[in-house]
Parts: sequence; C-alpha cells; structure tokens
Amino acid sequence: METLKTLAALREWRAKQKGSVGFIPTMGALHDGHLSLVERAKAENDTVIVSIFVNPTQFAPHEDYDTYPRELTSDKAKLEAAGASAVWAPTPLEMYPEDFVTSVTVGGSVTSVLEGAFRPHHFGGVATVVAKLFGQVSPTNAYFGEKDYQQLMVITRMAQDLSIPTKVLGCPIYRDADGLALSSRNAYLSDEHLVIAKKLNRILKEAIANTKTMSIKDAENRANDDLLIAGFHKIDYVVIRDAEDLSEVEDGTKRPLRILAAAWLGNTRLIDNMAV
Ligand code: AMP
Repeated sequence: METLKTLAALREWRAKQKGSVGFIPTMGALHDGHLSLVERAKAENDTVIVSIFVNPTQFAPHEDYDTYPRELTSDKAKLEAAGASAVWAPTPLEMYPEDFVTSVTVGGSVTSVLEGAFRPHHFGGVATVVAKLFGQVSPTNAYFGEKDYQQLMVITRMAQDLSIPTKVLGCPIYRDADGLALSSRNAYLSDEHLVIAKKLNRILKEAIANTKTMSIKDAENRANDDLLIAGFHKIDYVVIRDAEDLSEVEDGTKRPLRILAAAWLGNTRLIDNMAV
C-alpha cells in the first residue's frame, strides 16, 4: 500500500491505475465503519484509495478540529490489512495553500435544515473538500456512509450539479452489538457516557414503532423526552422526515421516511439515523 503525501505523488499513482478506482474520503481515526466502506469498494473496483484528512474548513472555530483524533500510523496498518491500495494523506497546506480562495456551496433545503441549521458553515467545507478530493483522485466510484445521511445527500447533489463523473454511493451504517453507530467521536466518551450513547439507537427504533400508534409530532416529542431521560444533555433534533429531501411530512404519508437525530453528551455530539 502506498502512502501519498503530495499532489504530484497522487497524480503519478492515479496515472498508473488501470480499471476502476474506488475512493473513500475519511478524516481518519479509522474504525470498522470506515473499513466496511473499504470492503465494499474493494468488491466493486480494481483498486481502492482512502483519503485521510481532517478538513479544517468544515469545523466552526468552537468545534473540535484541534482535538479530533489523529492516528495516521495505526490507520495505515488498518487500511493495509483491509487491502487498500493507497492512502492519500495530504497536509492542510497541500490542500489549502495560502492563496486558496474557492468554495463550493450547495444551496437549497438539503444544506439549510438539520445539520445545516445547527452547523451553518459545515456543508460548505464538506462540499469544497470533497469537490477538491474528487478533482485530485478522479475516482470511478466514491463511497460514503449513511451514518452522515445528509452529507451523502449533499455530495450526491454536488456531484450531479457539477457534472462530476464519479458515481457517489451510499453504504449502510455499521453498528456495534448494542446498535451504537461507530464513530471516531465515540473515542471522546467516558464509560458513563458510552452507556447512555448506546441508548440512542434503541430510542430511535422505539420512535419508529410509536408512529404506528401516535402522530409523527408526538413520536418525535416522545423520543426527545426519552433521550433526555436516558441522560443526553441536549438534543439538537430528533425528527422524522421525508427520506428523499428531508422535508417535513404529514401523518399518513406514503413516502419513504427517515428518523434523524443529533444529541449531546457533555462536549460530544452524536448523530444517528434510520429508515422508518
Ligand atoms: P469521517 O471520517 O467521520 O469523515 O467518515 C468518513 C466516511 O465514513 C463518511 O462517509 C462516513 O459517513 C463514513 N462512516 C463513518 N462512520 C460510519 C459507520 N458507523 N458506518 C458506515 N459509515 C460510516
């Protein structure tokens, strides 16, 4: 497995690839959720490249950019074992030289609601870095987790709107035995918070079951209360939305729905979502 640290090295590697290239953009601190994307990419492509870059522009100044876990050495060992062909691990300066002035903005409701409302500049940073990564890697297929459901929608829209030939593919959320969605940020949780975190998915499942006997609004409110009772400190949102555009839905709608939540344990913000 090659570790590529400069754009020149990446371009040289890319020029040598024959057949399809599967790409997984990550911020590192890799876990089995990331590796499930590598597994899928390996099954569907001739070569697999993973990027590891903690992207400063998608964090607000008060967020966890500085403390975000950086584990390049162990990440590389995991990727090597998983059978990736290359790792693209640029420095912030390689990605954002001092004269960098371009940004990609995805408009519309997909970026203004939920994550977009609570992290207003987040998707601008994500769209810009992913557009740039696509330009650098020229992948045939790119794999994103449904863990970041709204992000997957934003990237899909961006690739379509900018006529980027890469196929954007969503992959199921990888969970531990208790249903907790794996996340690099789970490393921040104390043992006590981990016990509470593991209740998030169960409460979402209960909310889905509750929609059979109560209105969507009531099921959302109950889930909000249940999260607080379970020990979450603050709930940004727990909502049931149209799975295709995240718009609010009436009771009795036949469209596919998704429940999505973001909740805080101390300084750690957890997200999760499921098909209803
Ligand atoms: P991150 O390193 O958190 O930016 O994540 C990189 C990619 O891995 C994103 O497409 C995430 O949605 C995906 N991912 C993270 N956690 C999981 C998980 N538990 N299951 C599936 N995909 C995941």
